[in-house]
Amino acid sequence: MKQTGFRSWVELSRENAEHNVKVLRSLVGDRIICSAVKANAYGHGLAEMGRLLVEGGVDWLAVDCLEEALLLRENDVKVPIYIMGYTRLDDLETVVDQGFNFVVYNPETFERLNAVTQKLGKPALTHLKLETGTNRQGVMEGDLEEIARFYKENERLELIGAATHFANIEDTTNHEYAQQQFAQFEKMLGMLADFGLKPKYRHCANSAAVILFPHTHLDFVRPGIANYGMWPSRETFVTAQEQKRDIELKPVLEWKTRVAEVKHIPKGSTISYGRTFETKRDSVIAVLPIGYSNGFPRSLSNQAHVLIGGEMAPVAGRVMMNMVVVDVTDIPGVQVEDEVVIIGKQGNKRITAEDVAALEGTINYETTTMINPATARLVV
Ligand SMILES: *Cc1c(COP(=O)(O)O)cnc(C)c1O
Repeated sequence: MKQTGFRSWVELSRENAEHNVKVLRSLVGDRIICSAVKANAYGHGLAEMGRLLVEGGVDWLAVDCLEEALLLRENDVKVPIYIMGYTRLDDLETVVDQGFNFVVYNPETFERLNAVTQKLGKPALTHLKLETGTNRQGVMEGDLEEIARFYKENERLELIGAATHFANIEDTTNHEYAQQQFAQFEKMLGMLADFGLKPKYRHCANSAAVILFPHTHLDFVRPGIANYGMWPSRETFVTAQEQKRDIELKPVLEWKTRVAEVKHIPKGSTISYGRTFETKRDSVIAVLPIGYSNGFPRSLSNQAHVLIGGEMAPVAGRVMMNMVVVDVTDIPGVQVEDEVVIIGKQGNKRITAEDVAALEGTINYETTTMINPATARLVV
């Protein structure tokens, strides 16, 4: 077993990351794959995962913010980077100067870009976000003409992309709303054309759309979760099965720690804060050095299991800030420093991010994203 020198760490499988990129490539052909690595690559580790994906063959990376874009550049990631989230007006100068692609959706940004492009003498590589029904970022249909004027009046404003984002594609097996949004997107692209604007790349497909709806791939796709080997949802998986799509995604991430302490405690003892767990028999417990500050949420108290010695060990009592206790009475021979799997495989048992998410009452996206960024990320 690999010695890591870490108390708790994330292992990223190069093989599985490459496999997932191949699956995406087989679905989208030669369209640009712009993989979403926002939020520390969904908790996988931004620099490590960014490099793995680029080495696996994705064309672009998409981040939330300038800080993430800069971190990728500092780590020698050379592909084009698209900033999809909020950029402060005062940061636009850096974004343009660094040559990052970025989303635009409000007149305030265009006004500031006029000043910035003039000052720097450099182009702004914009992707215009169109509002089609998610009602977060995006220009309303009625405001398109005003926005088109900005492009006409400043030749350094480049329209690299026109984009939208689906609201209800992975949460349901009824895809009517997504189809409506796509129709509205096409309508607004037509309006842009009437105003004399032709984006180089039209894009709207997240993982679910990449998997389920080839007609939404257009010029450029933005898959996130599928890169990590996770399905967007059970509903997406079911729809893909119904469509007879033979797609296998392989989880890239495993999350591990070690046993810090093993001890015998008598029947009738209570464990951890609030005394919410009482032993029904003489018991053996193992203390693990992870807790809610590490991304193992308190809602898993008395709920989750971890893998030790290839067996499921139930969490006993409350999850603490940096520690959790598990019951290993039924697992013989557990020793200090034994490897513990929180998410991943050990022996012939597996705990998935989806298993943990279900116990937390959330989705796989949140479960991996919550893993503390300070946790070591190792490529294996
Ligand atoms: C996160 C995100 C994606 C990727 O979504 P997945 O469901 O993870 O594939 C695509 N586009 C935008 C705008 C996003 O914010």
